[in-house]
Amino acid sequence: MSHETQVKHWHVTYNNIHNLIRRCTPKIAAEFTPDLMVAIGGGGFFPARVMRTFLREITDNKTLQIQAIGLSLYEPVEGVTEQKIGEQVIRTQWLGANAGQMLVGKRVLIVDEVDDTRKTLNYALVELKKDVELELLTRPEADRDALRAATKFGIFVVHNKKKPKLAELPEGTPYYSGEDVDDVWLDYPWESTDIEKHDELAALDVENAAKK
Ligand code: 5GP
Repeated sequence: MSHETQVKHWHVTYNNIHNLIRRCTPKIAAEFTPDLMVAIGGGGFFPARVMRTFLREITDNKTLQIQAIGLSLYEPVEGVTEQKIGEQVIRTQWLGANAGQMLVGKRVLIVDEVDDTRKTLNYALVELKKDVELELLTRPEADRDALRAATKFGIFVVHNKKKPKLAELPEGTPYYSGEDVDDVWLDYPWESTDIEKHDELAALDVENAAKK
């Protein structure tokens, strides 16, 4: 059976997402105060860009950068066999050769649209930390512990699905979600080729949920 017929769908609008990010950002600015964002593409791009608007307003940080990585768990990638889709996280894009240099000593907020099984977030965190460790090897030994301690990673997702996760984040990792949701399939507006229809379906979802 196709994914479409098995799973309950919930359509999310651009405005929903914008407002979830607006509500969440003051807490993130106060507690984590990122000075770099790493957006996981494609779903993390729009949320990161919106969050930057609010972070810039609150923290007055006009130089906050968004770097991009591409990871794929569900989407078919050339050369990846069917059964590996959904099991293994594949890098489709990564930071440049100076990745570690970019990250060391920074407070890095990893941004994605949804935390489903958590495999993608786990992969991103583990691999970015490896880049940091490689960079530290190039620094004087006496500086390494302080630089490692100054490098912090936090997570922001627009939606976190309330379900058992297949991977964990290291304990104490700052973690923020715009909203914790049931385990439904979320249809995001940027995946739609007809945004008016998408918004109509989103309004219908809200209407139907209110009837229950
Ligand atoms: P993970 O299972 O690793 O937490 O999620 C991996 C990726 O699967 C997400 O970044 C996202 O691209 C995709 N994904 C998971 N759940 C959903 C969903 O409900 N809707 C959409 N559109 N993508 C999802």
